[in-house]
Amino acid sequence: MAGLMRKKLGQIRLNVLIIGLLVFSMLGITVILTSVALKSEKNTLTESMLQSNFEGARNLSVTMHTFLFSMQHGLEATAKYIEEKDGALEQSSEYLRTMVSGRDFFNAVITVDETGAIRSSAPISFDRTANQMASPAFYRALESRRPLISEPFADVSGRMLVLFSYPVFDRTDQYQGFVGGIIYLQDQKNLLSDIFDHATRSQRGTYAYIVDQSGNLIYQPDPGRDGEVALSDVIVQKLMKAPRGTGSVVNINGRKYLAGYVAMPQIGWGVVLQSPAAQVNIAMRELVQSQLASIVPLFVIILLISLWIARRLTVPFTVLTRTARQIAAGERMEAPPFTSHWNYEAHHLARAMTLAVGGLQHQADRMTEAARTDKLTGLANRASMDARLAEWTAESKPFTLLAVDVDHFKAVNDTYGHNTGDEVLAYLARILETETGETGLCCRFGGEEFVVLLPEQSLNTGRLLAERIRGRLAGSTSPTGSPITVSIGIARYPDHGKDYHSVFEQADQALYEAKRGGRNRTVAAR
Ligand code: GH3
Ligand code: MG
Ligand code: MG
Repeated sequence: MAGLMRKKLGQIRLNVLIIGLLVFSMLGITVILTSVALKSEKNTLTESMLQSNFEGARNLSVTMHTFLFSMQHGLEATAKYIEEKDGALEQSSEYLRTMVSGRDFFNAVITVDETGAIRSSAPISFDRTANQMASPAFYRALESRRPLISEPFADVSGRMLVLFSYPVFDRTDQYQGFVGGIIYLQDQKNLLSDIFDHATRSQRGTYAYIVDQSGNLIYQPDPGRDGEVALSDVIVQKLMKAPRGTGSVVNINGRKYLAGYVAMPQIGWGVVLQSPAAQVNIAMRELVQSQLASIVPLFVIILLISLWIARRLTVPFTVLTRTARQIAAGERMEAPPFTSHWNYEAHHLARAMTLAVGGLQHQADRMTEAARTDKLTGLANRASMDARLAEWTAESKPFTLLAVDVDHFKAVNDTYGHNTGDEVLAYLARILETETGETGLCCRFGGEEFVVLLPEQSLNTGRLLAERIRGRLAGSTSPTGSPITVSIGIARYPDHGKDYHSVFEQADQALYEAKRGGRNRTVAAR
């Protein structure tokens, strides 16, 4: 993978770079935006949870207040009824029973005389003996002689209860005792459980409870959760200071809660509604998930579009790079990589490359051509001839070779001068070319010696050509003013040698024979 991305000298490809940059910046922006959004979202969620708990607590307190008022009113009505019966506490059982059975306000209703003894009670199942010697709460209710709501206390069997009391007088305003309403704080279905169950069932982990002024837990719907409640002293303290508000608290288990609270000064109770702060995190997680679900497809679409653009942008550079590498590897640039492009840099790079490389190639072509050509005659030079012969012998391509040498050329130079000698050489070259035509290749071997190569031609074709050349020379006037003559030796590959050196030697031998035989003649190797 790394090898794909980085070529061995550590260069990174442009498209990898652009794509990497795109992905990196998009991820970065997404992370930054999301984290900023989440941070403010978390504050909003926390705030709204506090607020909703506060609203919940207030609703609970209003509901409770209404009901407590009705309950006190119920007790008051009973007290009035007894007063009319002239304080007959023990005769009021029937009335009490209707009171208890009608509504679920109280778990039990009792009448208590001024000695603290229970004189009548409802429902029938109420165990008087368990409550006979009840508690200081009874005596406080007796002594105060006014409506009271007690602090939570335990009866003899250990059950926690709250006593609502209303004083009873007879017609002569003689104090008789009180009518009491009992709410068992645990295990019993009563008014509080009705209100609280309903209030807390709606939200996950949300939990309501009531404390009194001293911070005692008066009521909570689920006794199994005492631990979660006991702790919220902070809320209790706040409750004591300000009658309503919100706050976050940590319970003894280290769990954090977001709470709203409302005090009920008339009865000295406070209602607290709290939710685990973890709820916010759960909501946040859901939010993140839903955000991601909507962001990811967008992200992918934008990325795909960007990738497409990046690709279109990098394509010209990829093409230019490929062309540059091919040129560096020695290949020819046959055509421009592209003629125009919408990207400014790509357009001008391609133009510059085409111009520069085209120019260089043209120059190189000219130099190559010059290196292959004999300047004086315009024929292929010896190097070029060697290359061609090497090629053919490598392919075992047969060829006939004519070695042509001007007779007494030294005398031409001596008589007419070197320049005329040069003109004679050029003149001979033209005649060689004309006579050879397309069938072969004429080369200047050196000095006044020439070679004609006839690929795929027989020795006889060579001989005929040699004779044609000599005939032509004989019938033409050279730059000296009179015809010149040549001697020609002929050999054939592979007939006269396994390589072109030995074929050459054979041709040279034949040429030597032609010279020795009197010049101006053709001799073929045997
Ligand atoms: P032969 O018939 O035996 O071939 O006699 P020749 O005089 O032609 O041969 P020789 O090798 O003695 O002389 C060749 C001469 O060709 C010698 C040299 O001055 C002349 N020569 C070689 N290259 C050039 C050239 O490029 N231009 C001119 N003008 N003369 C050249
Ligand atoms: Mg010679
Ligand atoms: Mg000569």
